[in-house]
Amino acid sequence: MCCSIMFRNSDACSFVALSGASHEWGYPDLDSNQDEPFPNWGGLCDIGKKQSPINLHVKGALKGEFPSLEFKNFDEHQKKLEMVNNGHSIQLSGFEHELSLSGGALLGDFVVEQIHMHWWSEHTINDIRYPLEVHIVHRNKLYPNISMAADFPDGITVIGVLYHVSNQPNPAIGSIIKSLDDVKKYSAMNKPTKVKDSLAVSDLLSSVDGYFTYAGSLTTPTCAEAVTWIVPTETFPVTLDQVNEFKEIEYDEGKQLHNNYRELQRENNRAVVLVQTSQQKSAAALQLHCLSLGALLLLSLVANKFLF
Ligand SMILES: [Zn+2]
Repeated sequence: MCCSIMFRNSDACSFVALSGASHEWGYPDLDSNQDEPFPNWGGLCDIGKKQSPINLHVKGALKGEFPSLEFKNFDEHQKKLEMVNNGHSIQLSGFEHELSLSGGALLGDFVVEQIHMHWWSEHTINDIRYPLEVHIVHRNKLYPNISMAADFPDGITVIGVLYHVSNQPNPAIGSIIKSLDDVKKYSAMNKPTKVKDSLAVSDLLSSVDGYFTYAGSLTTPTCAEAVTWIVPTETFPVTLDQVNEFKEIEYDEGKQLHNNYRELQRENNRAVVLVQTSQQKSAAALQLHCLSLGALLLLSLVANKFLF
């Protein structure tokens, strides 16, 4: 949700997709044919007016000021995380501590339900696509489970963390990759496995200094328009070798999931708000101040030339 909604069947200890088996919807294999069109997934995915992802433009965004986002327990090392290849992504769940998010433009408390990845990124910033986007999916505590939360416009908040190409391997992504071999094969699909390394969610997202926020949807069926998106403007390093590890996930016998991002959706004149921290604003003000000083200096030089 922003991947399919998953719940845990406590009897069978297995994961079941509410939105149907993985073969019922999917992505075009852009490695095989980059012109292959994205399929229609039906329902709200095709007719919704607040769909995600979208392109986020710094210039087109509305300026916003909100209280700081408050993160609780994001720096706790999770030692019992489970990972599953659900045929659409790699998903992590089983957090030992309640990780909660509040503040910002959010009304209420949200708790982390699961984390999953998209390769390449779903959101773009200023028309630039990134190699990886991690979705940290939160449920509004008002609702008892994620499928109920998906029925309400304030039900879900997703932080979409973008990663840029670098020569520096990302240690947190590396920790996830260490367990990937256990779930890569089709035969291992929908079979959760323990994540070998401990991981704190803050390792994936060291800070949120500034961010875009807007009202959107899950990016996979049912495409419920229940999501407050938070996309930090800061991006984090990852190597292409690391991203290529995810591209080896199988969704069918011998078929690899080379890409799992949804195409960009219409903005439909929605409010996309850019929230900057006081640090970012003072840096921008300093830059403007320097530019003004430079312009003054240039003017005085020109004036001197004409006067003398
Ligand atoms: Zn997602």
